[in-house]
Amino acid sequence: MSIWSRRETVAVDIGGVGVGGDNPVRVQSMTNTDTADAEATAKQVADLHLAGSEIVRVTVNNEPSAQAVPEIVQRLEDAGLDVPIVGDFHYNGHILLTKYPDAARALAKYRINPGNVGTSRRDENFTKIVEVAIDNDKPVRIGVNWGSLDQRLLTELMDENAASDDPKGAKEVMLEAICQSAMRSAELAEEVGLGHDRIVLSSKVSVVPDLIRVYRMLAPRSDYPLHLGLTEAGMGAKGIVATTAALGPLLMDGIGDTIRVSLTPRPGGDRAEEVRVAQQILQSLAIRAFEPQVTSCPGCGRTTSTFFQEMAEDIQGWIRERMPIWREKYPGVEELDVAVMGCVVNGPGESKHANLGISLPGTFEEPKAPVYVDGEHYTTLKGEGLVAEFKEILENYVVKNYGETSAAEKEPVGA
Ligand code: SF4
Repeated sequence: MSIWSRRETVAVDIGGVGVGGDNPVRVQSMTNTDTADAEATAKQVADLHLAGSEIVRVTVNNEPSAQAVPEIVQRLEDAGLDVPIVGDFHYNGHILLTKYPDAARALAKYRINPGNVGTSRRDENFTKIVEVAIDNDKPVRIGVNWGSLDQRLLTELMDENAASDDPKGAKEVMLEAICQSAMRSAELAEEVGLGHDRIVLSSKVSVVPDLIRVYRMLAPRSDYPLHLGLTEAGMGAKGIVATTAALGPLLMDGIGDTIRVSLTPRPGGDRAEEVRVAQQILQSLAIRAFEPQVTSCPGCGRTTSTFFQEMAEDIQGWIRERMPIWREKYPGVEELDVAVMGCVVNGPGESKHANLGISLPGTFEEPKAPVYVDGEHYTTLKGEGLVAEFKEILENYVVKNYGETSAAEKEPVGA
């Protein structure tokens, strides 16, 4: 669906889901349940996966959580859900992965933070995790985070910088340290024996311009796939906008093979929101399509009733409800564009750009709503049944254009 081209990377298999290479940019997420609670964690993984998360990460922070991993994976298998589970390790990954070999086997990938594998025995602990990965034929993500950057490396680079003739700013040195931490760790992993195609890198920070900068610095240094995410993005609109502002330029540069949106949910909020936002970022950039898009205008003084807003919301919700069936029966339907417009000013024009569009009457306009199908005026609706009639036209369009009929046999919706 896109003319966009991507940085060339080696493909990494993560429990049957390819990341990098020719694979689509993957959507991932992370649970916030206590991993030791296998039932709750398996349920949240299932919810995230059913919302569209192709890989799900769980924290493995202590012995009970490591013990719970095989049960979590088993519960998902029993539910018929095939989703790779990634273990997120900090401080004690080398201990947990060796003490709990069933967990090491059940996980599809290990995330290692090189800043959190110890100080004096850093390389030894890191090597131990890599050896477990090799023994179990698992890939790793070397995930650097500026909140836990390897201080020994940072100090080394700061000292070098201070001694240079043309010292850089502290921020620049810190971003360089993030990149070097990722690259040196990957080099060490390969020296230990991990395959080049078993490594994914990430270098997360929480300030948007810094994130864009650090990934642009990191990307040319290797062909490892990159996992993108703005760490600690925040809540609600702030988190969504900041993540989108950060990931958009990188993805358009062709940088990024898998993404995660690190939203802070409201207490009791829906964790799967981060999955929907990640999908929407990719779809808005025309990189992947997940569900039909409804284009609607913001409304203005020309639409003084709320009818048009209600209709746009109703159509979006109805499409979402129909998607489980449509996705199954009508492949390609996720690329459908629908326009619901508020008045005659941009309504007909925008509706003609969509596959299917309706231009509602604005205030003081004649109470009729022309419908456009593939750019042509198809019919004009009016009266109380307008929304239901539009849905019927939409359903017919989907059946005729995305059904089993071959492209050559397709007829326009009205035929
Ligand atoms: S299409 Fe009409 S109602 Fe919608 S924003 Fe434009 S002028 Fe206002």
